Amino acid sequence: MVSRKIFDSLGYHVTFDRDHPRSRHNGYVADHILVAETVNGGPLHKGAIVHHKDEDKTNNSPDNIVICKDRAHHILLHLEIKALKASGNKDYRKCGLCGLWDDQANLYRNPANRSYFHRKCRADEAKRRLRAAKEAAQ
Ligand SMILES: [Zn+2]
Ligand SMILES: [Zn+2]
Repeated sequence: MVSRKIFDSLGYHVTFDRDHPRSRHNGYVADHILVAETVNGGPLHKGAIVHHKDEDKTNNSPDNIVICKDRAHHILLHLEIKALKASGNKDYRKCGLCGLWDDQANLYRNPANRSYFHRKCRADEAKRRLRAAKEAAQ
């Protein structure tokens, strides 16, 4: 069977189906949504985001498709991919001060901007700032 694949401007495979509830204004619906609905056994709930496990948006194999319950879940999956690539552990996070990836148990999480850092790195940074302020005052 020869199937001609249509790509949209973002590089996704799409299928023409104007009646689909998730079709875009041009009548096309992304193939990964159709695959996710098959995996899900029905329409996706509102706010659901379809994620490609291997980050290849043209790989719509059902085992490459993950249905995220919302945007935050999707962001987390991408963060885990980044952590795994950089540190070999998906649960590691990067210290915003020394740049090293570490176990989350060793890191402090800043709730304001979701950044992580070592307590020691933060203490060193505070000392460095204090020293700089003193020098500037002299
Ligand atoms: Zn994704
Ligand atoms: Zn650090």
